[in-house]
Amino acid sequence: MSDQYDVIVIGAGPAGYAAAIRCAQLGFSTACIDASVGRDGAPVLGGTCLNWGCIPSKALLDASHKFVEAKDHFGEIGLEVSGLAVDVAKMMVRKEQVVKGLTDGIASLFKGNGVTGLAGTGKLLAGRRVALQGHDGTVEELQAGSVILAAGSVPMEIPPAPLTPDRIVDSTGALEFQAVPERLGVIGAGVIGLELGSVWRRLGSEVVILEALPDFLPMADRRIARDALKVFKGQGLDIRLGAKVTGAEVADSGVRVAFEEDGAEQRLTVDKLIVAVGRRPNTAGLLAEDSGVALDERGFIAVDDYCATAVAGVHAVGDCVRGPMLAHKGTEEGVMVAERIAGFKPAVNYDAVPNVIYTHPEIAWVGQTEAVATDSGAPVKTGAFPFAASGRALAANDAVGVVKLVADAESDRLLGMHVFGPQASEIVAQGVIGMEFDASAEDLGLTMFAHPTLSEAVHEAALGVAGRAIHMVNRKAKPKA
Ligand code: FAD
Ligand code: NAD
Repeated sequence: MSDQYDVIVIGAGPAGYAAAIRCAQLGFSTACIDASVGRDGAPVLGGTCLNWGCIPSKALLDASHKFVEAKDHFGEIGLEVSGLAVDVAKMMVRKEQVVKGLTDGIASLFKGNGVTGLAGTGKLLAGRRVALQGHDGTVEELQAGSVILAAGSVPMEIPPAPLTPDRIVDSTGALEFQAVPERLGVIGAGVIGLELGSVWRRLGSEVVILEALPDFLPMADRRIARDALKVFKGQGLDIRLGAKVTGAEVADSGVRVAFEEDGAEQRLTVDKLIVAVGRRPNTAGLLAEDSGVALDERGFIAVDDYCATAVAGVHAVGDCVRGPMLAHKGTEEGVMVAERIAGFKPAVNYDAVPNVIYTHPEIAWVGQTEAVATDSGAPVKTGAFPFAASGRALAANDAVGVVKLVADAESDRLLGMHVFGPQASEIVAQGVIGMEFDASAEDLGLTMFAHPTLSEAVHEAALGVAGRAIHMVNRKAKPKA
């Protein structure tokens, strides 16, 4: 017998659970299937983000940042600390508590909104039918009016560094270390490499990051990438660019890593090696051969601008479709799809997706870099304000970095905001809102910001676009008539 739901969502990560909740809010009978189980074998909601991604990594980033503040910087502001020590086990327990609180929260949201959570693996069949295989192996077939695929992504592996249970690990393993490794190697100086490399560096590891590309953070603003590389190296992250890993093997002494750098074969021995070379869509076993849903050339589920697949009534959202692999991007897609199923016509603004790297200082941006805007042929103008001139940042002893705005030279329309600095993740939201509302740099310059705040740097950078910043000397002062 077939069960009947208006909507079945496969995957309960930020894309899937948001889609399911919004569908239920819109009055659809909704089921959300998820295969994930926690360490105790019990089903968990929340996907990568809550269980093995955003949240546990931020718990460790915040804890390790506080440790470094206390160890290295409290003295600078007249606070003496003694007896400071790292208790990794306790840190991990707290991280798990934070995760559990949030994943249980999704279960409460499902209950409160009337979403039926189904534990097991879902497979899309033809005709908007879904086969649900429970954790006990039983299979049942469900029928839906609409299906939303939100299967997320999994870490990529590379042949020279096959994972082992304990020594060569992916990001999930790197969130679980029970002691601070003395020597840590990381393959990939991307978001995960920098965030998790920072966590363990702050807690005391010697960290070497091997990055295959010759450029550091090629997607970021060039000035910010340059400044950030210098700052991170100063923090003790030994970042090697243009380093191609050719092999990694576990030995008694640790993990022996071989890599090529500047044309020469190099060797390195570490206690743990994190492989952080990107993620790939998690579509294995998701689609029956006759489901009609196609993958694109990179293995993502092929969708249009509104996350519709080629099969009527089947959508796909989040990391398993094109675009940045970010929790908030998936959430927006999930909500958009729910509303489109209900007959509304919202769209996701892919030009205004914020990106954040939670190092310290943080790196955050939205929209185009100066280089991309210039390459696209638009005449651009920029304004930048350093946190070294921000009263609030100086008072907080946290004055490294800059806010940079990119605007269209003719229309003054905001094209991008790039932040390297304290709380960049929060500050960048102002650029996102500005871009959503088609703000000009002048609009931001005419807006009043509370003093003293870090956000004043946005105001000054906006004024700087027109050469009118007050708290720095403008490069080319252009007095307004
Ligand atoms: P996922 O969160 O991957 O969820 C997919 C769910 O679907 C999983 O629970 C999976 O078990 C389930 N599933 C898959 N296939 C099936 C099936 N056939 N049947 C049933 N269930 C299935 N992003 C940010 O925006 N900010 C951050 O700070 C951030 N930090 C991160 C840190 C780390 C270490 C990692 C690894 C990722 C981080 N990300 C971050 C990325 C973020 O976690 C993902 O972009 C986000 O989780 C994607 O959401 P999703 O719902 O598409 O997929
Ligand atoms: P990434 O794409 O950010 O970085 C991977 C890095 O590894 C790249 O710099 C790449 O050049 C390098 N690389 C690839 N193959 C290599 C090799 N063989 N040797 C050496 N270097 C190699 O991927 P990631 O850091 O694994 O993160 C995966 C995804 O998760 C990203 O898309 C990211 O958006 C998401 N994520 C987001 C956040 C956040 O928003 N703060 C945090 C973590 C992860």
